[in-house]
Amino acid sequence: MDVNHITAWPAVAVALGGVAYFAAIYLAAGLVASGVRVALLRRGRGRLLDPRPLPAGQVARERRQSAVSIVIFGVGLLLPWAMLVHGWASVHSSNPPLRVVLELLALLVWNDIHFYTVHRVLHRPKLLRAVHAAHHRSVVTTPWSTYAFHPVEALLLGSVLLPPMLLWPFTPLALALLPVLSLTYNAIGHSNFSALPRRWRWLSNAQDHHLHHACHRGNYGFLFTFMDKCFGTQLPHDAARAVIEAGLARDARRGGAA
Ligand SMILES: [Zn+2]
Ligand SMILES: [Zn+2]
Repeated sequence: MDVNHITAWPAVAVALGGVAYFAAIYLAAGLVASGVRVALLRRGRGRLLDPRPLPAGQVARERRQSAVSIVIFGVGLLLPWAMLVHGWASVHSSNPPLRVVLELLALLVWNDIHFYTVHRVLHRPKLLRAVHAAHHRSVVTTPWSTYAFHPVEALLLGSVLLPPMLLWPFTPLALALLPVLSLTYNAIGHSNFSALPRRWRWLSNAQDHHLHHACHRGNYGFLFTFMDKCFGTQLPHDAARAVIEAGLARDARRGGAA
């Protein structure tokens, strides 16, 4: 089937195709990030950013939560599909490479603005307790934490493409690739692993996403740092040192007492 003619698809095919698409990229990103992390650690390359042990059952819980998010993201594709069907939005008829690259850059910047805004709102005390706490159950993150959200958070984050689609006829390829890039970056951000020297950190704000989980605040951005810098919420690289050392010391005392 041609994604340029997605408006001709029946709704059930859009929903099922969406679920299959998000499931495939979640599994691929999780497996690749886990595999790379294990391979590099075995070779003595890189280090765990937060060396505290995972609670029993964390990865299984993250996969269960992510399965619900995958269904929400996949079925949620019916919204942009309906926008196309009813003529509220349109897509470009082909995929010129330069246009795809420029649109992807614009969408990545928008993705950061959208993610930061939703994320900061979800850190309001009542919403944090009711919704965002589901993601923060992973204090030490794994590549499988990426989609481990409360369903309301999945709905909010899944809306990222709707405003730009109302404003511009994006190429189908740029729209399809945004979730791939976003999830790849998300998997890096939750891998709890650093193989990059500090001077390369500008490449990857995600290297510091573990600080957000360890400190429960700050570093609300996604790919870029401009929103955290603009609003004064960027954490220093050693922000979690005290909480990580306290956690390790507590574990050591428990181990000694056992
Ligand atoms: Zn958060
Ligand atoms: Zn996270």
